[in-house]
Amino acid sequence: MKMETSPSQPDVALPSRFATVLADAGFDLRRGPARVLQINVGKLCNQTCVHCHVGAGPGRKEVMTAETADRIIAWMRAYPPELLDITGGAPELCPEFRRLVVAGREVGARVIVRCNLTVFFEAGYEDLPAFYREQECEVVASLPCYTEGNVDQQRGDGVFQKSIDALRALNRHGFGTDGGLPLSLVYNPLGPTIAPAESVLEPEYKKQLKDNFDIEFHRLICITNLPVTRFKLYLEQTGELEAYQQLLLDSFNPATVDGLMCRDMINVGWEGDLFDCDFNQMVELGLGGKARRFLWDVTPGELTGETIATGRHCFGCTAGNGASCGGTLA
Ligand code: SF4
Ligand code: SF4
Repeated sequence: MKMETSPSQPDVALPSRFATVLADAGFDLRRGPARVLQINVGKLCNQTCVHCHVGAGPGRKEVMTAETADRIIAWMRAYPPELLDITGGAPELCPEFRRLVVAGREVGARVIVRCNLTVFFEAGYEDLPAFYREQECEVVASLPCYTEGNVDQQRGDGVFQKSIDALRALNRHGFGTDGGLPLSLVYNPLGPTIAPAESVLEPEYKKQLKDNFDIEFHRLICITNLPVTRFKLYLEQTGELEAYQQLLLDSFNPATVDGLMCRDMINVGWEGDLFDCDFNQMVELGLGGKARRFLWDVTPGELTGETIATGRHCFGCTAGNGASCGGTLA
């Protein structure tokens, strides 16, 4: 199903009930030492998925410039991150993407690329698996189901078959195989439900993909959809938004709080501005809830200890087994 790309209004003006619930449970959500530098290079994408928290699509103009990439690379050379996590949109469509990957590897970071798989079939991007292998990237690829109907419903007609072809290409280049380069797949629910634990779903994913398509991968990451931007608009249109927000709130699990990704991540937008996570970026909630700051204005050390800005959407990270860019938390 295709949705329009304009996001609905953010809900951060609502009281952060999340902060109250955390406080009642005895938590004070603050930043620890930054381990991950996550860069969102922009909203340009070759797909328009229903659940997309970025509101990405082919018509989006927000893409990182060379000047911004230069400043980020200079910062990484001064403060090398342990892990560089590059996302979008389809991050590969940003002209600065490969330069950022190479710079990250040069400063000694592990580099994760969040890949939608179908980008391999865009003209001029066919060599991406070879580039990933050359740079020894870790590929995290979206595949919300192992059946064609469900994937095409969420991500667009023809996406499943292209994704299968792309995963075969990654296997051929040594990703996901026994002892090979890291390849993870990302599952997210088709509708307003909480993602199951990876331990439940991963064995079935591995069996189905191996038996039906001879595809291998290392890890399944389960992520619950947060009700922001396009997915929030979809829920509003189907009349499910309130019930879903209530479900997330009712499913609050204190055991997830210590693992929240905002504790050790600096998230950077396509213009270089700072956020506590990619979801906060999409609702324009700046790092710590403070005025706009840029990566090159800060050092990692001075951010440690800052309060993390939260909104109602945060209940998506703490529901059930919890959710993060690295998978479930509890
Ligand atoms: S979910 Fe990923 S592939 Fe789909 S529109 Fe958003 S950025 Fe593109
Ligand atoms: S949405 Fe972002 S700030 Fe909120 S809990 Fe999740 S990771 Fe932390």
